[in-house]
Amino acid sequence: MGKLTVALVAHDHKKPELLAWVKKHQDVMAQCDLVGTGTTGGMIHDETGLPVKRFKSGPLGGDQQIGALIAENALDALFFFWDPLNPAPHDPDVKALLRLCSVWNVPVACTPATADLVVTSPWFLSPQYKPTKPTF
Ligand code: PGA
Repeated sequence: MGKLTVALVAHDHKKPELLAWVKKHQDVMAQCDLVGTGTTGGMIHDETGLPVKRFKSGPLGGDQQIGALIAENALDALFFFWDPLNPAPHDPDVKALLRLCSVWNVPVACTPATADLVVTSPWFLSPQYKPTKPTF
């Protein structure tokens, strides 16, 4: 079985939370192919040594590149620590990314607590579990 492809995205004020979360679950993250928006991906790689394929920075199209992976059925989970307290210039892209997770039934965690529960699920790394893909 191939590795899971997992996307990591955090808004600026949430980057420390995502970094701490990745470090906490580094053993699981090391078993996944990681992708991320530019700044987030660079930070995760620099701080943990994990390989992360970096797309453009979120405001420059990175969220949409990750959305394209979802549309191509090439993303298994998204950990997206978006910032509920500060406006983002690319808010439409943020909404679009979350929307595509709902369209295509992609697991998405937006808080460390949810992310903990997702990544510790016995189904997370199990080749037996595949989310149902809707047909349209
Ligand atoms: P960044 O983008 O990782 O390049 O900061 C994240 C975002 O704002 O969506």
